[in-house]
Amino acid sequence: MNKILISSCFLGNKVRYDGQTKSIVDPQIATWQQQGCLTVICPEVSGGLSVPRARAEQIGKQVFDEFGVDVTAQFQLGAIHALELCQQQQIKFALLKEFSPSCGSKQIYNGDFNGTKIKGQGVTAKLLTEHGIAVYSELTLAQLIIDYNRA
Ligand code: SF4
Repeated sequence: MNKILISSCFLGNKVRYDGQTKSIVDPQIATWQQQGCLTVICPEVSGGLSVPRARAEQIGKQVFDEFGVDVTAQFQLGAIHALELCQQQQIKFALLKEFSPSCGSKQIYNGDFNGTKIKGQGVTAKLLTEHGIAVYSELTLAQLIIDYNRA
C-alpha cells in the first residue's frame, strides 16, 4: 500500500504557529486515515519549534520569524526529518499545507509579513520535491487522488 506524508495541521492537530489547526474534512482523507495510509508530520515542530511560535517567512534561502530571529536551522531539520520518513517508508506522495514556509508547494509569503504571496516552495516541500516526492496541497487534492489511484 502506498503511503502519503501529510501535514499534521490537516488532521486536526493544533500545531500551527498560532496554536490552531487547518483541518481538511474530506472523505478520501478519512478513508486513507482509516486504511493507515497517512504518515503525519509537522516539520516545524519536528525541527524543534514550539506551539505557539512566532510567524516565520522565507527570505531567500533563510527563514526568519517576525521578530528577526533566524530559524533556518529548525526549518531545515524539520525538512530532513520529513525526507527521512519518506525514505524509510518509501513514500512517493506528500499532501502539505499551501503557503506555509515549510509546507507550501507552489506559493509562499514574500518575507515582508504583509500578506503578499509569491511563487515558491517551503523548505520541506522543496527538499521533498528535489528527492522525487510529488508534493500536493489542499488546492490540488483532487489531482493527488487521481495520481495516487493510478500509482
Ligand atoms: S509546518 Fe506544515 S504541518 Fe506544521 S503547522 Fe505549518 S503547515 Fe502545518
